[in-house]
Amino acid sequence: MATLSAQPRFLRSITLDRASKFTSTEFFSDVNLSPHLYEKRLTDTIELAVYSVPDLKRIPFEEAVKQHFEPTTTGTFYGPSWSTHWFKLKVTIPHKWSGDRVELLWDSNSEAMVWSTDGVPRQGLTGDRGNDRRVEYTLLKSAKGGETIELFVEMACNGMFGTGNGGLINPPDNNRSFQLAQVEIAVPNKAAWQLYYDIQVIRGMANGLPSDTARAQEALYACNQVIDTFSRENVEKSLQNCLKITHQFLSKKAAPDVHRVTAVGNCHIDTAWLWPYAETRRKTARSWSTQLRLIEEYPEYVFVCSQAQQLEWLSQDYPKLFKEIQAASKKGRFQTIGATWVEMDCNLPSGESFCRQFLYGQRFYEKNFGSRSKIFWLPDTFGYSAQLPQIVKQAGAEYFFTQKLSWNNINKFPNTTFTWVGLDGTKVLTHMAPCETYTAQADVDDMIRSIKNNRDLAYSNQSLMPYGNGDGGGGPQRAMLERIRRMNNIDGLPRCETGGAEEFFESVEKNAKGLQEWKGELYFELHRGTYTSQAASKRYNRKLEFLLRDVEIVSTMSHAFGRDSKYPKNEIDSLWKNLLLNQFHDVLPGSAIEMANIDARAIYKDIETKATKLLDDGLTSLYQSPQLPGDDAKYIVFNSLGWARSEIVEIPAHTGDNLQQYSAGRNAGYVKVDSGAFDFNDVAESKADERRVQAFASGEDFILENDWVAAKFNKQGHLISLFDKQEDRELVPKGHAGNKLKLFDDIPLYWDAWDVEIYHLNTGRDAGKGKARIGEVGPLRATLVVKYALSENSTAVQTIVLTAVSPRLDFHTEVDWHENRVFLKAEFIWDILSDFATYDSQFGVVQRPTTYNTSQDYAKFEVCGHKFADLSEHGYGVALLNDCKFGYSCHGNVMRLSLLRAPKSPDANCDMDALLERRPMSFLMVEGAKNVILDTIKRAEDTDHIIVRLHEAYGGRARFKLWSSLDFQSIHRCNILEENEHSLEFSKDGRSSGWLVMRPFEILTLKLKVK
Ligand SMILES: [Zn+2]
Repeated sequence: MATLSAQPRFLRSITLDRASKFTSTEFFSDVNLSPHLYEKRLTDTIELAVYSVPDLKRIPFEEAVKQHFEPTTTGTFYGPSWSTHWFKLKVTIPHKWSGDRVELLWDSNSEAMVWSTDGVPRQGLTGDRGNDRRVEYTLLKSAKGGETIELFVEMACNGMFGTGNGGLINPPDNNRSFQLAQVEIAVPNKAAWQLYYDIQVIRGMANGLPSDTARAQEALYACNQVIDTFSRENVEKSLQNCLKITHQFLSKKAAPDVHRVTAVGNCHIDTAWLWPYAETRRKTARSWSTQLRLIEEYPEYVFVCSQAQQLEWLSQDYPKLFKEIQAASKKGRFQTIGATWVEMDCNLPSGESFCRQFLYGQRFYEKNFGSRSKIFWLPDTFGYSAQLPQIVKQAGAEYFFTQKLSWNNINKFPNTTFTWVGLDGTKVLTHMAPCETYTAQADVDDMIRSIKNNRDLAYSNQSLMPYGNGDGGGGPQRAMLERIRRMNNIDGLPRCETGGAEEFFESVEKNAKGLQEWKGELYFELHRGTYTSQAASKRYNRKLEFLLRDVEIVSTMSHAFGRDSKYPKNEIDSLWKNLLLNQFHDVLPGSAIEMANIDARAIYKDIETKATKLLDDGLTSLYQSPQLPGDDAKYIVFNSLGWARSEIVEIPAHTGDNLQQYSAGRNAGYVKVDSGAFDFNDVAESKADERRVQAFASGEDFILENDWVAAKFNKQGHLISLFDKQEDRELVPKGHAGNKLKLFDDIPLYWDAWDVEIYHLNTGRDAGKGKARIGEVGPLRATLVVKYALSENSTAVQTIVLTAVSPRLDFHTEVDWHENRVFLKAEFIWDILSDFATYDSQFGVVQRPTTYNTSQDYAKFEVCGHKFADLSEHGYGVALLNDCKFGYSCHGNVMRLSLLRAPKSPDANCDMDALLERRPMSFLMVEGAKNVILDTIKRAEDTDHIIVRLHEAYGGRARFKLWSSLDFQSIHRCNILEENEHSLEFSKDGRSSGWLVMRPFEILTLKLKVK
């Protein structure tokens, strides 16, 4: 009689779950595969001693090993957070382990680094749970048996993501301790590990491929069969049988023309984030030494590394490791990419800062690694300026890589592999990883996402997968490389190949056809709060960009006019590098912890002090020039801008002088100064002017009035009328007002310091009432002072200034800010009709809609602008200027400038007590085109030529000449890296260039020699 089959149908969901549990270290880990991953383990042949470094110091190896080490044991707790503990290990290998591979298993529940006894970092270790866990270090590939090995382990009392408790972005807990839970030596079971990796891929396919395909069902069947075959009683034999099943499944090859995924090993190390800069310096050594070990073990493996600053730190702190990296780079295995000094924010820095990011980055790579980077690699930055394509190309790079727009929370970005067309029309081949992460785990899901989310498969049948743990560093793990080997050529998946990012782009360039184009900025539809959080950093960045510009102009002039001062090249380099460092994409945007912000603030202060001294030295040396105004002048004013100006300047008052207007206490006074471009003016020569300004009361209201405008404020300080006297035009619509300080609830969905969400706009209300009074009454400067109680906790004082020489109204605002998740904005409503507002940006402007017609429009409910936002109809407009702010919104005729936020994570004290302020010998000159801005004057990097950088600012053609008070000897057009492209003509008298032509928004760099 036939019997029925004993085996019921295997069920999909249950089998998938069963396969997960088979390799789990959490569930059934006593009876599944995991206890067999190591066939031998020992703890008692390890001698362990510790030295705990006092005062949270991070000391070098040479100092650490000289200290007295005390015996210790596993199970001990170490702390507090951010402290360091050095361990000395003496490991004796048993004789019977001869021929075995021996690994050290170290789990201190924190980050740690293995050092050789001769002081070379060997590998990082991470005791965190989850994907970042890395506790194995290979002591011996094949033991002799009986040998003794000594090494050191440097334990850092922080996890991969700092020391926050109970949530990734919670502020650090400075009183944590970390348990040294495991110190063991072990011999891995090769067959068990092979099966472990096989099953991960096969289960991944069973789960990820469409369940109605034969391949998915085959995978499911193989999983079921493997687990049925595995026997706890006869482990070794059953492992071999299991491997037969997996090999049969894995050996079925992919079709020749399937999608190709280039797996690029990378390790995103945030230069500061949930940890300070000082910890990042160690993270680089931990992460990169680890990658060198993988490079030794896996001949196909290629690792890419970005951020020249981190490599420079490594060369200073770990010179021997740096040499190893240089050697691996020569073999093409450890590739330096990115092209910039740090992976900077791309909303807030100026155009010149962008140029310097590339200048210092590319020069570092060229000097230390023999070549520049062809790729601008920026996977994790919060939006990308429309000027980047032009700057990328002018800085010797070809390609752009990111993935961040996959985080958009309103619209899906429509392209994957495409041509990005910049503000001026420059084109850059761009790829946004369709696996939608830069920390891919190199698993089946990443492969499937690489096709599913690839929006350009029709044009390019390949994608890049940046894999490896990141943010806190770490990088690829052995398991990832094992999975890639298995997914290299297997039926059902794209072909996954290890490789470098450059070779990927070169292949796309060769094989792609008809790529789509995207013109203009890559606006990121998330993290819109980063234009405003950490007001002080933003203010410093803007001010110091200006200050360094002035230092370079004055130092170049001083040098050019033959003063004996030497151009302070090394000092300027070091100041620029530090400013560029703070432009890192979690520091300047304001998304780092308080500790990192304190460091950044100290760096800013140092730059300010040193740059101010350099400026003073330069001006003093220039002032002594016989070509400049005479000795009897009390004050000399220098105009560092490339155009003529009239300004009211405040100077200290002295007895006996006869100034037109004094300040309230008569210790200062005001003078009018007219100055040419890059010119010096003697204040003593300034004469009284017929132009006047006045402040007066009119009923309950106050009026500031000069030749151009009459501005009327109510007693609360609201601007209820702004009348343009020359155009006979009222700018404030009837019944509305400007200069309203408004508060909005600002509670985002998760990323506290990063995000302001669209619904905050529903919660706007007027901040508490202001009380206005007249301050100064003219004739040069008239002011209104307004005191506000913004809320129960916060106050503000505004000084509203109108001078005799300009239609510009200044609102000098100081806020004492103590709020929780509240957003402060200044609102203006204008009688202007326009569907677009125009925002100042890097070396150009960007226009954005003032409508909410489409989801792309309202996704831009808060945007980044630099020095101004303009709302104009044909032939007429009004602009909001600022000297330290970046967040704007403009909807219809309502313009808002974002002043302050109050997020609590990851810095619980973000912007508390923030103070907010705004202040308002010709050498080189542009003649013939007012749309050309002469922005930068500096000495060349390698010679004593002068570098001049200009840009076309209005979006039109320009034809102009460059005029100099010193004779030109040569003029060359060059790129951002200061390499000559071709020489240009100049006039016979040497004072003027030939006609120069610029395209809309073009950036032009010239290299000059003057007599
Ligand atoms: Zn990052």
